[in-house]
Amino acid sequence: MESALTARDRVGVQDFVLLENYNSEVAFIDNLRRRFRENLIYTYIGSVLVSVNPYKDLEIYSKAQMERYRGVSFYEISPHIYALSDNTYRAMRTERKDQCILISGESGAGKTEASKKILLYYTVTCPTGDHMAALGERLLQSNPVLEAFGNAKTLRNDNSSRFGKYMDVQFDFKGVPVGGHILNYLLEKSRVVHQNHGERNFHIFYQLLEGGDDDLLKSLELERNPQNYNYLVKGNCPRISSINDKNSWKTVMNALLVIGFVEEENLMNIIGGILHLGNTQFGEGEEGETYVTNEDQILTLEKLFGVNSSALTEAVTHKKLTAKGEEVKIPLNFEQTLSARDALAKSVYRRTFNWLVEKINQSLAQKVMQKFKDTEKISLSLGFEQFCINYCNEKLQQLFIELTLQYEQEEYETEGIAWETVQYFDNKIICELIEEKHKGIISIMNEECLRPGETCDASFLEKMEDSIGGHPHFVTHKLANGKTRRVMSREEFRLLHYAGEVSYNVNGFLDKNNDLLSRSLKEVMCQSDNQILSHCFRRKEVNDQKRSETASTQFKNSLMKLMEILMSKEPSYVRCIKPNDSKQPGKFDEVLVRHQVKYLGLMENLRVRRAGFAYRRRFEAFLQRYKPLCPETWPNWNGCLSDGVSTLVEHLGYTPEEYKLGRSKIFIRFPKTLFTTEDALEA
Ligand code: ATP
Ligand code: MG
Repeated sequence: MESALTARDRVGVQDFVLLENYNSEVAFIDNLRRRFRENLIYTYIGSVLVSVNPYKDLEIYSKAQMERYRGVSFYEISPHIYALSDNTYRAMRTERKDQCILISGESGAGKTEASKKILLYYTVTCPTGDHMAALGERLLQSNPVLEAFGNAKTLRNDNSSRFGKYMDVQFDFKGVPVGGHILNYLLEKSRVVHQNHGERNFHIFYQLLEGGDDDLLKSLELERNPQNYNYLVKGNCPRISSINDKNSWKTVMNALLVIGFVEEENLMNIIGGILHLGNTQFGEGEEGETYVTNEDQILTLEKLFGVNSSALTEAVTHKKLTAKGEEVKIPLNFEQTLSARDALAKSVYRRTFNWLVEKINQSLAQKVMQKFKDTEKISLSLGFEQFCINYCNEKLQQLFIELTLQYEQEEYETEGIAWETVQYFDNKIICELIEEKHKGIISIMNEECLRPGETCDASFLEKMEDSIGGHPHFVTHKLANGKTRRVMSREEFRLLHYAGEVSYNVNGFLDKNNDLLSRSLKEVMCQSDNQILSHCFRRKEVNDQKRSETASTQFKNSLMKLMEILMSKEPSYVRCIKPNDSKQPGKFDEVLVRHQVKYLGLMENLRVRRAGFAYRRRFEAFLQRYKPLCPETWPNWNGCLSDGVSTLVEHLGYTPEEYKLGRSKIFIRFPKTLFTTEDALEA
């Protein structure tokens, strides 16, 4: 408290609940800015940690800093991600309850960095069992591997996570980390075959080309220049100053070693194979059929993917239909062939990524004792993906409001203080619009995907207009009259998310939702003698006539599972904010920040937290700090704590309006009261 309260003009308040005008967004942002200028990137809203990305290395993550925060209560020293980590760890140990830390914020806001700092804190400060020393190392090393395969440069972040991650750390009764588990969801696999201008494919491709030794590249028949590969040239941005692919390659290889990998060769055959797959070229025959024009590429693929080259060629250029019990092969046209090829590349990459996560999990697996969790919100862009992400955000926000409200209410109850109702926006209505059975957007999309015959994105849009056109949070061009200010195109639909309006272009929705890979391609792949691939493509899947689940259903289900897990834990929150769009240190873009404060629901959160009382503190802590201000409590109060606090505040002249005493805590209504008391201490 000390420094923050005395110097509050310069550095603002370290907890937003202490803002005089807690309803004012201007005051909120002003406080954030003041602190940011002083390199104080962390601020609390009660137990929520708000973090602003400094875009520069601050000297606040050292071992010495870790020691400072160990065992110290939240409000005693300046806010820090270590304080949150430590408090969560202690809550797990003392209350014997599973904890989770939810990290959210937009792309580039610092979620991944935050999760790494938390993990680092635990691996450094938690006791290690003798034989368990290696686990911490394996946990830490899982990061570079996942980042190599799951992160990429985007316009917004040079190291953007293109998958959702949920990490789970298990501790034994002594507080020793004994195991870990990673859940991943919705890898942005379209990036494997296409990148927007200024963006890159997943890091691993460039790392391999830059860092792999000559022998490896020779065996993969690869050249060093990424510009030679179709799948790497789309973004026209092979190198970035903030990333050293060569060094990263070494880090990743070392990490694979620590985790205990033995399949590097197969793994790199797949990565190299994907690059060759992208370089296969096709010609168009007279009948509109397609054929491969560079046979040698296919032969290389035979070697790298471990599949039969003519079977592969056939499967990429034909589709199989069963008519009257007989199998017929129909040639694909040029466009269809290209999309079959790309579908294969995406599918191989996604499955390999899942396999990799599974491998890491095997390496981290231990007996389950107590659990501790980190979740990272997903952050992808593009139409369909963005829709999934925003749906996820909507769910997390719902959970967040529900749990903070519930937590507040429970605390009031245990302390025996009357609850005062809070007004807040319940976004359940939007979640339902998306996920409801039969008439939610996902259901309509799935129905369109399953409908036989020609379906297209336009008919999907029409279907939505028919079934949910009347919904107050759904708008299209046709329905627009007056509901929205902006002009809409005929291919768009717009959702009024709790954080604001978002437009989605329906183009590609159905395609992306259909997780399509032809049966013939699956057949070829499941005969691969590359051990990873034969594990990823199972015979069972080919024989199974059932349609595989659509992407949105898979996503919805994993989200439901995640929510269930999160509901069963005690949550802590880190809300990350990105200060500017140019990745610059020291620059605070107010418009950008205001937008994030809004969509992260921070004002809402503050309102809930401040519903009745600005500030609360346990009796002993309050007495300890302020006892010098009253002759009866100084130097020691020997009676019961509650009486001591009463005596103290009466002496200080608190009016009954200003405070209430609960069973173990004092609740103070206005920040001013506390500030006056603090100032008296200084005097
Ligand atoms: P995405 O959603 O795209 O994955 P993210 O929220 O995970 O984004 P990060 O990758 O964590 O964002 O952060 C982006 C960059 O910002 C980092 O690579 C780093 O340069 C910088 N950064 C983030 N947090 C910090 C920090 N606490 N200290 C210094 N730099 C940071
Ligand atoms: Mg990230």
